[in-house]
Amino acid sequence: MPKTKFIFVTGGVTSSLGKGIISSSIAKLLVSRGFSVTIQKLDPYINIDPGTLNPYEHGECFVTDDGAETDLDLGHYERFTNVPTSQANNITTGVVYQSVISKERKGEFLGETVQVIPHITDEIKYRIKLLANRENLDFLITEIGGTVGDIESLPFIEAVRQMRWELGNSCVVVHLTLVPFLAAAGELKTKPTQHSVKLLQEQGVQPDIIVCRTEKNLNEGIRNKIALFCNVSPSSVIECIDAESIYDVPILMKKENLDLEILRKVDIKTDGEPDLDDWKRFLHTLKNPSRSVKVGLIGKYVELKDAYKSINESFIHAGVANACNVEVRLIQSEYLDESNVEEKLKDLDGILVAPGFGERGIEGKITAIRYAREKSIPFFGICLGMQCAVIEFGRHVLGYKGAHSTEFDRVTPFPVIDMMEEQKKISGLGGTMRLGAYPCYLQQGSQVEKIFGAQNISERHRHRYEFNNEYKEAYSNAGMMPVGLNVKDDLVEIIELKNHPWFIGVQFHPEYRSTVAKPHPLFVSFVKAAVEHATRKK
Ligand code: GLN
Repeated sequence: MPKTKFIFVTGGVTSSLGKGIISSSIAKLLVSRGFSVTIQKLDPYINIDPGTLNPYEHGECFVTDDGAETDLDLGHYERFTNVPTSQANNITTGVVYQSVISKERKGEFLGETVQVIPHITDEIKYRIKLLANRENLDFLITEIGGTVGDIESLPFIEAVRQMRWELGNSCVVVHLTLVPFLAAAGELKTKPTQHSVKLLQEQGVQPDIIVCRTEKNLNEGIRNKIALFCNVSPSSVIECIDAESIYDVPILMKKENLDLEILRKVDIKTDGEPDLDDWKRFLHTLKNPSRSVKVGLIGKYVELKDAYKSINESFIHAGVANACNVEVRLIQSEYLDESNVEEKLKDLDGILVAPGFGERGIEGKITAIRYAREKSIPFFGICLGMQCAVIEFGRHVLGYKGAHSTEFDRVTPFPVIDMMEEQKKISGLGGTMRLGAYPCYLQQGSQVEKIFGAQNISERHRHRYEFNNEYKEAYSNAGMMPVGLNVKDDLVEIIELKNHPWFIGVQFHPEYRSTVAKPHPLFVSFVKAAVEHATRKK
């Protein structure tokens, strides 16, 4: 194909309609047809990245191989397509303005008045095209964050308008809207869709395809009405009915011929069908598990659906790999202590202690880990979860009274988790973290080496603190083995416990690497251990 085709995905009526899932589903269908595709998210907020955003504000922060802290939608993109993303796949208004302002300071605009149009919109277009050219793509799907009509997203929509004008039928605009069902009237209503399309048209953009989120099937009359009022053909009105699982959506979109509709718009002829056999097998197992296990996710954002998104999805992938339904119970670590740990955790077949920052809920995490260690319940510690396992072992096995991470206790007599000298030199919050993919060497004969079936792996990081090497020998001698190492920087990346069925802590985030096509081996193995634990209990 001569050049990249651009697909823009906008959203109308309300937020949370699932633009990320629609974008990912389009990508999945196109990738399954053999096209090279990536997805980019344009976020209208002014933060440079979501790295400094509280999970209450923005859910989980997803981390890419190149160390970008990004929107959680990038996680969906990777999980659906198995194609890694990067810094360039997530652009915020903050990044755009920062770049334009720094050019202005360097005098690059030669005395011009710097304005939203053309300077900001040029920068947006430049960043869209840059990714398309860099990756030599067949398709770039660009999801515009926010809802049409938001003041913040105007420059992004304007950039879409300009690109359509410049590139003609190399661009397709897919607009996702809501067609609500009014119970009192007993019917689906198209007016919100009509209004949101009008808003988009006022901003100079005519959508090519309208994807309608709905809880009831759209009949022909509704499709025709939307088509008539919104200047699209009836075949371009796509029903997106509420699904049991987000992983159903590519199949639903296939049934609605969304992929063919897109290909038609960009003049690509095709007779073939996307190869979705593996995806369908995955869905079949997901819906017909042969058994079920209960896993506790011990964290401090239990009321937030999106805070541990990638971990929850990793459990879905790993569950399918074990033909097993994983029931993830979110347990608030803040309210967990010696007096109630038995009651709260006794039914679990596995315990995962979540990543996190800040002191809230730390003691509860440590209590949960002690319980898992002493009762031989499979335990998986991720990042802060691993650090808490080290603290727990220090306090209760090695007798290090008051052992802690210096993140929470600067004057602890036993700083078993500490900041590396290198990191201490950097001040301020932004930029001090170890971010992105780092190699990890797995010790021969270790449990993790068997799990990965390899000795050299690479995993993504997002943390400041590390296992303190001064304690390495004492821990090894007592049975907590540093089995995964970053050899170059001399860092402990994985610990595992001797004489325990499954007790592994990792300093990195395996959840960022799990996809439908490639469930993460640690999650797969942990779920297997939970199944074995459940069997033992019977
Ligand atoms: N707060 C810990 C650190 O900075 C762990 C971070 C995490 O769990 N992502 O090292």
